[in-house]
Amino acid sequence: MNTILQQWITGQVLLVSSRLMSAGITRDWGVAIHGGAGSIPVEMPPGRRDECMAALKGILDLGVQLLSAGTAAVDVAEQLVTGLEDEPLFNAGRGSVFNIDGEHELEAAIMDGSSLDCGAAAGLRTVRNPIRLARCIMDHTGHVMLAGSGAEEYAQSIGMERVDPSWFDTDRRLAELERYKAEPATLEQEGSTVGAVVRDVEGRLASATSTGGMTGKMAGRIGDSPLVGCGTYADEGCAVSCTGRGEDFVRHVAAHKVALLAGSGGLGARAAVERVLRMMPDAAGGIIAIDREGVPVALFSSRGMYRGRADSTGLFETLIHGEE
Ligand code: ASP
Repeated sequence: MNTILQQWITGQVLLVSSRLMSAGITRDWGVAIHGGAGSIPVEMPPGRRDECMAALKGILDLGVQLLSAGTAAVDVAEQLVTGLEDEPLFNAGRGSVFNIDGEHELEAAIMDGSSLDCGAAAGLRTVRNPIRLARCIMDHTGHVMLAGSGAEEYAQSIGMERVDPSWFDTDRRLAELERYKAEPATLEQEGSTVGAVVRDVEGRLASATSTGGMTGKMAGRIGDSPLVGCGTYADEGCAVSCTGRGEDFVRHVAAHKVALLAGSGGLGARAAVERVLRMMPDAAGGIIAIDREGVPVALFSSRGMYRGRADSTGLFETLIHGEE
């Protein structure tokens, strides 16, 4: 190829990319997921570590496939969290923790950063996938949040899959409740709430979070996960999903604070997450976030956080303890 032609092609490529950038379109996707932060023992029961890592890898891989195929961020976030809800290892959907009355009350939220559309549901007892209900609330009701019997009735009216509450039971969570009842102060909550933050090939951001809450919580307690701005938030500059002691994340309006510092505050996702975790009480939990340009971030102040990150540069990792 002659030099003039080569220069012309290079010029055209630069022109197209600068037009894409000025139109706010990036060509890079990224995703982070979490399966909860908390007192995760470094010495985990045999096999559990491998099971958790395999589950995280499977979900992250799904994210890679969807994003490489150009799927919209909000759809990817919903699908990844649906997959995590169906995985009984984590505290969301099947495998959710028990409240003090021995029941499950599930909650979830989803937010599309490109439109600020959001949907949330709380106090669910029979909806198999709370994140799907949150998505329908966002798309079809004109409301942001439905709770309790109204949320369940709405789920019924749109034909969403409902299950007997025992479908969410696992022996492990029952044993946790027994330990909590015996000695409430000593139970180390392992977390295991789930979430995803996503940037798609068009630069749109979205986040989703789903949880069974905290073992031994009072009936009717609502945590940070379904509260937009507390456990879940996304705007044009940053998408955030939190996990840990929900009351701390609510008091600090943590997810919105991260997005504000990352975007108009100019810090970017990583520094914003670090700053907010430092503002919060020790060992409060963990935060995943992604901004418009940077790599996905997953940081925590607790002992561990089930987590994974991937992006279009080839990053693909899943971790439980240790630093990134
Ligand atoms: N943040 C959740 C809640 O307080 C629990 C968790 O992340 O493990 O409901």
